[in-house]
Amino acid sequence: MKQKETLLNTQPVNGLSSIDETGDEHIGTSHETPMRPDAFERDDELKIELIEKHFREIMTILGLDLNDDSLAGTPKRVAKMYVQEVFSGLNPANKPEVTLFNNSYNYDQMLVEKNITFFSNCEHHFVPILGKAHVAYISNGQVIGLSKINRIVQYYAKRPQVQERLTVQIANELKTILGTEDVAVVLDAAHMCVSSRGIQDVNSKTITSQFFGKFREDAVKQEFFKYLELEK
Ligand SMILES: [Zn+2]
Repeated sequence: MKQKETLLNTQPVNGLSSIDETGDEHIGTSHETPMRPDAFERDDELKIELIEKHFREIMTILGLDLNDDSLAGTPKRVAKMYVQEVFSGLNPANKPEVTLFNNSYNYDQMLVEKNITFFSNCEHHFVPILGKAHVAYISNGQVIGLSKINRIVQYYAKRPQVQERLTVQIANELKTILGTEDVAVVLDAAHMCVSSRGIQDVNSKTITSQFFGKFREDAVKQEFFKYLELEK
């Protein structure tokens, strides 16, 4: 099967002088994950086969002996991990099904789900981001199962990401599903590309937030922050 590869767009973005600089400074270019139009023309099986082949090549170029028992299965393992686990959120087919329930107990205050652990990967270096998501919404008459909020966070995390985009994608999805503007998302994450390489700062965290609707009002926002502080 012959696949024609096109060159990536190498135009400068956001006025920066080079693609390298954009990646090193962790600047994203869009709220949508940049996808190719032919992203799903290959099925998962073919993607695994091709990634395995290319990862084998990378390891070989690095000088590793793929005949070693410990390394022999690595290309296949990495390929399966990429397609079926850590980047499975690229495929809309894996988007969680969400059922809404009537808010029959007429709870009209904010609902906060905090400390949702997520694993993602930085799209500039392909190394892990480990973080916590704190999500809140005010029901407009419908409520969502709590575990579904976790699943939505995980789905968008399982892509090559920048933290700002992940924050907005989760907030936008909740707005759409719940049919309300009153949504807040805060992400607090550690980036392995900052700790394990580059500047090698093991202590810094990155916090991003997206507030819509009533959560832009100071009193509502403060109430949300107060709940996040209850225990660490
Ligand atoms: Zn990075």
